[in-house]
Amino acid sequence: MTSADLLTGTGVVPGIAYAPAGWARKPPQVPVDTRIIREEDRPAETERFRAAADTVAARFAARASAATGAASEVLAATATLAADRGWIRTATRQIAAGKPATTATAEAIAKFVAQFEKLGGLMAERTTDLNDIRDRVIAEILGLPEPGVPQPDQPIILLALDLAPSDTAGLDPSKILGLVTQFGGPTSHTAIIARQLGIPCVVATPDLGLVEDGTAVLVDGTTGTIRWGVPEAEARELVAADANRRAAVRAWTGPGRLASGEPVQLLANVQDGAGARTAAESPAEGIGLFRTELCFLTAQTEPSVSEQAAIYREVLDAFPGKKVVVRTLDAGSDKPVPFADHSHEENPALGVRGVRLSFAREGLLEHQLDGIAEAAVDQQGEKSSVWVMAPMISTIDEARRFAAEVRKRGLLAGVMVEVPSVALLAEAFLNEVDFLSIGTNDLTQYAMAADRMAPDLAYLTDPWQPAVLRLITSTAAAGVKLSKPVGVCGEAAADPVLACVLVGLGVTSLSMASAAIPAVGVALANATLEQCRRAAEAALQATTAADAKAAALEVLDN
Ligand code: PEP
Ligand code: MG
Repeated sequence: MTSADLLTGTGVVPGIAYAPAGWARKPPQVPVDTRIIREEDRPAETERFRAAADTVAARFAARASAATGAASEVLAATATLAADRGWIRTATRQIAAGKPATTATAEAIAKFVAQFEKLGGLMAERTTDLNDIRDRVIAEILGLPEPGVPQPDQPIILLALDLAPSDTAGLDPSKILGLVTQFGGPTSHTAIIARQLGIPCVVATPDLGLVEDGTAVLVDGTTGTIRWGVPEAEARELVAADANRRAAVRAWTGPGRLASGEPVQLLANVQDGAGARTAAESPAEGIGLFRTELCFLTAQTEPSVSEQAAIYREVLDAFPGKKVVVRTLDAGSDKPVPFADHSHEENPALGVRGVRLSFAREGLLEHQLDGIAEAAVDQQGEKSSVWVMAPMISTIDEARRFAAEVRKRGLLAGVMVEVPSVALLAEAFLNEVDFLSIGTNDLTQYAMAADRMAPDLAYLTDPWQPAVLRLITSTAAAGVKLSKPVGVCGEAAADPVLACVLVGLGVTSLSMASAAIPAVGVALANATLEQCRRAAEAALQATTAADAKAAALEVLDN
């Protein structure tokens, strides 16, 4: 490798791309405008504001109808928010009281941002959309170009401090060959959409501002690096080799199997019937995580057992006779469910959430398990292969109590490994249940004491962190010893290099967004079990996350 300037961030979508850098346009500075608009000019000022807000909402709506899938949903949601009467009324009232349109826009949005932040969870995440709407409306009022992603004639590597969901949703993969952000984490919108579009992507890259517009850059989403000053011939060779890998990913149809022949179950993470039907068209061999709480984010009252059964049945019907792992409600913290709300907690991520809430509310767990059991019996009276697991288990007593309720209904019982206490006592837990599933998103959050939603802590919320690898190791070892299944269903399973390490540690199934399955399938198909084990051993010797990944890659590349 030739020496060149190098920055390292967190690689979230594998792949190599080479093109000139293009920076996302920065939002306009909100002019400090303390004027009081004269009474007779206020109707015109209101009109200026309304026209700008309408234009911005209409642009989002047009992009939503031109896009498909998750991108279209994200854009449609932002269009609705842009046209929301609440903030528009607040802004027009301010203009009627004499404020300039730009100031009124900034103040009205700030008020709603504060309210959304107070609500927390998914609502707080929508503040990025609100701020994006503010920037676009202000640019429109001032007659400036629209902030956000450039629309280049030639392909570029898009660089940004961070991208709003609406920016990422409109990306054209034929023009944006790679994506690098200074902020944002592996679970940010940027990462999710880049994964869906298959655009190599690196997030959380410090000092990205060193790279100037137009500089030819080489992005590697596997190693999480961005380099410039690389000789063009070398860069083109790396891109060509990567193109071959991507062609193999497109051609891969499953099932999951190592080069040495051992099967590895590759499963999908879903949140509803529609997601399950999409997954059924991918090489997914079943469902490894059905996040039931996401079906109820707007439910004010607890759905009846038969209403719940109808929802769960839709997911089971997409995979008849296949393995489907249903997770009971993981309500609370970042996923607030109105009918199972436990508000006024100082620290909701450490509060009454997940199975703690299901136990605390009389009947909540029992009703849900009854609904799952009802859904598990198909029209012929036969049971699908339904496994049920609890989120946020911390003690053996909780696992025992949960397993007893599940088994009473003739279903297989498991627990998620998200709290380090379970990983540390994995064997004792596995004596109580039929299987374990490692939720690396929360396991990493709790092991590293780092909020998984905090973009500036992405270097800590990285499952390659040596301490997290240790917790996974002890959990997988318990499965091997007791001959019981241990899966991984957090984002770590979607990292093709880490997937090989997980299998080397003894993990028996990997569950991820269905779009991520082929890349993992190809990585496993290129590695023998012996290589996976050596990659795991090499990673465990490392003392930093970056070294762990580099050590594993070295073994797997040879
Ligand atoms: C996890 O924590 O890794 C997990 C899979 O659960 P969720 O992301 O839904 O919290
Ligand atoms: Mg979790």
